[in-house]
Amino acid sequence: MATVYAFVSHKDGVLDDSAAELAAAAKKFTSAPVTAIVTGSGVDAAAAKAAELFPAVWKIDAAELAYPNAEVVRKALLNNLAAGAVVLMANNTFGMDLGPGLAVKLGGAYVSDVVAIEGADGDTLKVVRQEYGGVVSTHVTVDMSAGAVITVRPGAIAAEEGAAVGGAVEAKAAGDLAAKRKFIEVREPEAGDVDITKAEVLVSVGRGIEDQENIEIAHELAKAIGSHAEVSCSRPIVDAKWMDASRQVGTSGKSVKPKVYLAMGISGSFQHMGGIKGGLVVAVNKNPNAPIFQVANVGIEADILEFIPALTEALEEL
Ligand code: FAD
Repeated sequence: MATVYAFVSHKDGVLDDSAAELAAAAKKFTSAPVTAIVTGSGVDAAAAKAAELFPAVWKIDAAELAYPNAEVVRKALLNNLAAGAVVLMANNTFGMDLGPGLAVKLGGAYVSDVVAIEGADGDTLKVVRQEYGGVVSTHVTVDMSAGAVITVRPGAIAAEEGAAVGGAVEAKAAGDLAAKRKFIEVREPEAGDVDITKAEVLVSVGRGIEDQENIEIAHELAKAIGSHAEVSCSRPIVDAKWMDASRQVGTSGKSVKPKVYLAMGISGSFQHMGGIKGGLVVAVNKNPNAPIFQVANVGIEADILEFIPALTEALEEL
């Protein structure tokens, strides 16, 4: 098998949680040392952090890489990777942008949104993906003989806890980064009335709440739980303008790590679950086959319009 690399996401010197998950994912199909790739401008801190997870780190540092422009990053990678390379990356917004084009240019296979890796037999990798919004799991074989780009769903493969690896960091030249796609500006999300990323308990409502008026029962539950609880939501609730965008959890919303995440009437799309970075996930859904039951720590089959007021009443009695 060719050398395996992990393209690592980071921001302000802090590695994304997906970095440790990629290290664990690689170990599921190769015992050979895996090289992490860190790109950006001024990435010493991120590279040092990556060296705690990977035995080798490539640091590609250039002013043009200061902002995440997939075309520029793709060029930096192609200027360094040998033909036949196998590259892992997170199936986050940037990975979805970077991965397909990189696979085409490398001439290798592309498999996206992998939720489990079953192992490899020579150059044949076996992975699990989900279809139809998570209703069906598909077992896929990937021919890696000409290389491959594999994007792994954040949160799907448990990161390994353990001692720091202490890998060696090697600086690599970025090479020619001329690109047609230009960076324009960074727009920070508007500050909302609450910061759901700080809440210890989130009562999160999805389309199952059915009506804007019903959102009040989620606020009443959060109030009964206490001041450390807030109400968050899935994207359709924001799209319907029933709640502010600052309360949306997911890949195009906020990433949250509460102690308890109460998912009320949420189906469990990967875009939503990608925003839940930790905590006990309790899912309440009236459909016993809802995909969220495959990933939740606790699953309750119930109608939330009855369950939420009943739970609120029980807590108030306590
Ligand atoms: P649905 O998928 O419609 O699920 C509603 C659930 O409620 C169902 O499981 C149903 O069984 C259940 N239900 C219905 N009535 C009741 C009841 N009375 N009691 C109990 N259960 C009930 N989504 C996000 O959430 N966050 C994101 O950041 C995000 N980013 C995206 C980015 C892109 C590029 C794209 C394409 C999509 C994104 N989405 C995002 C949308 C995502 O794909 C899903 O459409 C969305 O998460 C579904 O929201 P939901 O679970 O609330 O609704």
